[in-house]
Amino acid sequence: MSGVFIISAPSGSGKSTLVNKVREIVPGLKFSISYTTRPPRAGEENGREYFFVSRAEFEEMMRKDDFLEYADVFGHYYGTARNFLSLAQQEGKDLLLDIDVQGAAQIKGKIPEAVSIFILPPNRQELEKRLRTRSLDAEAVIQRRLVTASREIENYGKYDYILVNDRLDESIDALKSILLAERRKQAGVHGQRQESADDTNLMTKAERCRLENVRQRLQPILASFAQATSGR
Ligand code: ADP
Ligand code: 5GP
Repeated sequence: MSGVFIISAPSGSGKSTLVNKVREIVPGLKFSISYTTRPPRAGEENGREYFFVSRAEFEEMMRKDDFLEYADVFGHYYGTARNFLSLAQQEGKDLLLDIDVQGAAQIKGKIPEAVSIFILPPNRQELEKRLRTRSLDAEAVIQRRLVTASREIENYGKYDYILVNDRLDESIDALKSILLAERRKQAGVHGQRQESADDTNLMTKAERCRLENVRQRLQPILASFAQATSGR
């Protein structure tokens, strides 16, 4: 193993929900815990969701070249520590990165074989509803996240797979299929195993989410964001 999976999504699309779920059902994944200068939200714990550090501490890590990638997101630094990649390699696990579009581009530049997945909401209205029902953020923050979402979504074409998170159970199954299908491909490349009926099923489900196979389906989603932006 020891592949790298990158997952990005506009805030509120359901990325944390999906990632937490697949971490329970797909063995052999190491989740990278990022460093951030943003303050912890209620219920977040240092070392669980993130390592919460000061700007000075983060900048010191930048100077020491401790990051595989880092970016400024919503005015705070976020970064992936290099040591998570070495730990995943030592443990023979695949590294799972939950990072933004800037970080994803940096990782793809350094590790071209990394597999990237972009999660989208079914439309802008549903994203707004999810941001509200999650009720973690103030109204102004929700509005800012919606504007940022429109910008982030424009980057969908840089990802290998696109997952439209409409029905949660289907999305969990699709994400699981992508991870397992990519693993099978790697195993196949190294000639370790033959393809079974299960493998074919996984591959088919994963293929449905391949960028080139979802372009058509994305048009109404992209339009729902474009209309809202032009209406401002
Ligand atoms: P993100 O990590 O992308 O910011 P969350 O996982 O926190 O998003 O999800 C945002 C909200 O949407 C949460 O309240 C979550 O329970 C809900 N949610 C996630 N996926 C779905 C789905 N497929 N259908 C309906 N609600 C969902
Ligand atoms: P939040 O503050 O809501 O937890 O995360 C905000 C954004 O930062 C999300 O899009 C998340 O994927 C991204 N993010 C989290 N950790 C990292 C990281 O280490 N690097 C980068 N580039 N983005 C990150």
